[in-house]
Amino acid sequence: MGTDDLYPAGRLAEAQRAAAAAGLDALLLTPGSDLRYLTGYDAREGERLTCLVLPAEGEPTLIVPVLERPDAEAAPGTGYRIVDHADGADPWPLVRAALPGPVRAVGLADRMWAQQVLALRDVLPGAAQRLASDVLREMRIRKSPAEVAALAEAGAAIDAVHRRMAEWLRPGRTEREVAADLAAAIRAAGHATVDFVIVAAGPNGASPHHGVSDRPIGVGEPVVVDIGGTMPSGYRSDCTRTYVAGGPAPAEFVHYYEVLWEAQRAAVAAVAPGVTAEALDAVARDVITAAGFGDAFLHRTGHGIGLDGHEEPYVVTGNPRPLEAGMAFSVEPGIYLAGRHGARIEDIVVCTTDGGQRLNTTPTELIAL
Ligand code: ZN
Ligand code: ZN
Ligand code: ZN
Repeated sequence: MGTDDLYPAGRLAEAQRAAAAAGLDALLLTPGSDLRYLTGYDAREGERLTCLVLPAEGEPTLIVPVLERPDAEAAPGTGYRIVDHADGADPWPLVRAALPGPVRAVGLADRMWAQQVLALRDVLPGAAQRLASDVLREMRIRKSPAEVAALAEAGAAIDAVHRRMAEWLRPGRTEREVAADLAAAIRAAGHATVDFVIVAAGPNGASPHHGVSDRPIGVGEPVVVDIGGTMPSGYRSDCTRTYVAGGPAPAEFVHYYEVLWEAQRAAVAAVAPGVTAEALDAVARDVITAAGFGDAFLHRTGHGIGLDGHEEPYVVTGNPRPLEAGMAFSVEPGIYLAGRHGARIEDIVVCTTDGGQRLNTTPTELIAL
């Protein structure tokens, strides 16, 4: 499948209908995943305005700096006109000009810069400002077959890196040294960018969002390796495996790793349409809690993934939303014992009518290197 399938022509019109139904006169999207979702354009963030002006009715306009016009024209999206502004010229009147009718309410990209939000207040006085995600979330939460294929491609690319871990992860090397090799391998496997590299050995493994340090990896120390990047398609990978290098892991670790493995497997197996996000969280959590490690499972079971690394649906207590075919999310329980070590197992799973399909396919057992 090509980019035509990933960024289909009908998507802008669908977003316009959804905006109208939500009572918004326009969506205003500065660089980020919503803009990319609608146009395929991986726009640069910066002080020069790039903004898709998508009126609920009428012709969409992509406003770009003149120096980035060639990039915008190369994007796979269609169905909008491109208007550029000269460097140094005031771009804000172009937004007003792209909205011929009255403007009572607009939906703004969630991560628009505050400077831009305030400038839009001046150029569209009286227009209520809401979040564009109120409209776009529902479109993005179920992935099309082309999006699932793009996520599977990302999953295969990150799996290829995990498969080669023995080349890099050894006792005596520092987390940072291993991470540098991993970052190169993530690019070599086909990612356009490296989004994060967590190499957390021994006590650092008990900190779920530890990055790296200059601490050398010890013999027999458990090492949590959580890596991910963005493919040229825009879709992302995110996969965690836990390794032990150079000798046997501590017995207590081996015990709770078994518990974690069981919890992660049970949750993946429980993925099906109609199961709520919070029920899925409970499947993993109940296994871990029953074994006495409930307090050591510090975070939600998972997060959605797509053009953003973390997006809806969140697999978390308090989210009653039923899973639907096409939703893609991580299943990543962890057990973290402060000061000692920790473990996490993470796969991206897509919900299908037949249940959960893992997009990461390397073994989830504790991997001895
Ligand atoms: Zn995380
Ligand atoms: Zn991860
Ligand atoms: Zn994750």
